[in-house]
Amino acid sequence: MKQYLGNNCTVEILPFEKSKQRLITDKLECRGLEDTEDAFFIGDLGDIIHKHKAWVSLLPRIQPFYAVKCNDSPAVLKTLAELGTSFDCASKAEIEKVLKLGVAPSRIIFANPCKQASFIRYARKTHVSMMTFDNEAELHKIKNLYPDAKLVLRVLPPSEFKVQCELGIKFGCHPKDCYHLLKVAKGLGLNVFGVSFHVGSGCEDARAFEAAISVSRKVFDQGLELGFKMTLLDIGGGFPGQQSAPISFREIAAVVKQALAEHFPEESRVRVIAEPGRYFVASAFTLAVNIIAKRVVAREAETSSPGQVASLGEPTKDQEPAYMYYVNDGVYGSFNCLLYDHAHVTASVLQDCEDEQPFTSSIWGPTCDGLDCILQKVLLPELNIGQWLYFEDMGAYTMCAASSFNGMPKPRCHYYAQTETWHTVFPAKPKKLERCICAIPQMKAGHECGDLDMSKLTYIPDDTCTKVDL
Ligand code: PLP
Repeated sequence: MKQYLGNNCTVEILPFEKSKQRLITDKLECRGLEDTEDAFFIGDLGDIIHKHKAWVSLLPRIQPFYAVKCNDSPAVLKTLAELGTSFDCASKAEIEKVLKLGVAPSRIIFANPCKQASFIRYARKTHVSMMTFDNEAELHKIKNLYPDAKLVLRVLPPSEFKVQCELGIKFGCHPKDCYHLLKVAKGLGLNVFGVSFHVGSGCEDARAFEAAISVSRKVFDQGLELGFKMTLLDIGGGFPGQQSAPISFREIAAVVKQALAEHFPEESRVRVIAEPGRYFVASAFTLAVNIIAKRVVAREAETSSPGQVASLGEPTKDQEPAYMYYVNDGVYGSFNCLLYDHAHVTASVLQDCEDEQPFTSSIWGPTCDGLDCILQKVLLPELNIGQWLYFEDMGAYTMCAASSFNGMPKPRCHYYAQTETWHTVFPAKPKKLERCICAIPQMKAGHECGDLDMSKLTYIPDDTCTKVDL
């Protein structure tokens, strides 16, 4: 069964669990002739629902504001909006996207400390009043454009903890400068009501949160001392989301809870929010890529200098072979995460090949750039052109920053969810409504689903047909 989510996006509802391999194989079996080789994602919206449940159970006091930048697919946003999540937006376009889902402006924080003026004007027009700042010039800009905005001071947290991506080199007011900045805000008559931080994306040491919460308390007190009504703490993002994360969400949640109990106990009535991005989406997406070309080279060459392998030619009879595989997505596409997000990816072979001999191999993207290498050295059985590889944990900071450099198409995404999980968020529709939705493609054959305005559906009481006035 399929359910239409809006925005040209359909979810396949599965009556029982299927493995990723099975799902990819099923998709391949029902593809049209033209797109048989194109790379594609499978996106498990049920995984996002499970993540939300885990969040509510482990951090019930903290309201998540999903960081849209991490993966802005309409299906992801719609699912999270339906779950009651709020949103962290970084630009006008992100705010627009979220508002279009029917989310109230009070469920959005404009969490970009350095904002384009027109974006601030747009926030004012749409009543998105919560926004972050970390410097004096931004305060003057806000004074001119949105003087009654509700401001959150982003503080620079201690940086000695291991993270996948540092953010402190770009944002965050050093704690020693916070008092001065708060005084400037006071002088301008602005409304500062909270403190935020971001420990860095992909936090690998829970103590980073403890240290940052402790620093936030001090800055919070400075705000109170200056007469601001401080009521909000925003603990940012950084929570792990991939199955292979070096630290679990549970471990981080335990440390966060403890630190909040010490510095911002429930009795303080401070509202605590967070801006998780990768936590919600990383493990939900798997990317399937097709081997479009293959070269065999001498293994010595492969192991000595991966960048020069190609020029060293085929192996002689006495040399062991190594294989270079070219696949149809790369670092200019979804694997931009290797460069921008400092990600590590793992390739799996779709076909069962456990007993086959492994060879040193490298995996390359489809563009003409030598930089476009996904994995320099992995052990794989010998594979052929046309075979499929898949990469799990590909939902965060992948498709949202992909380009179509060299004219390479971006992978489509097929969404699915297991019935029971799905219906906890999107209850099964009454029969009549299901019939109406099923009727749409027949009525508008040849048209994109996006052409249809769902609000124009009218239901006829005798239960026989649906009328669409387009
Ligand atoms: N909030 C802000 C302001 C960010 O810049 C980011 C990521 O860059 C996030 C939240 C999301 O971080 P993560 O995906 O690590 O949870």
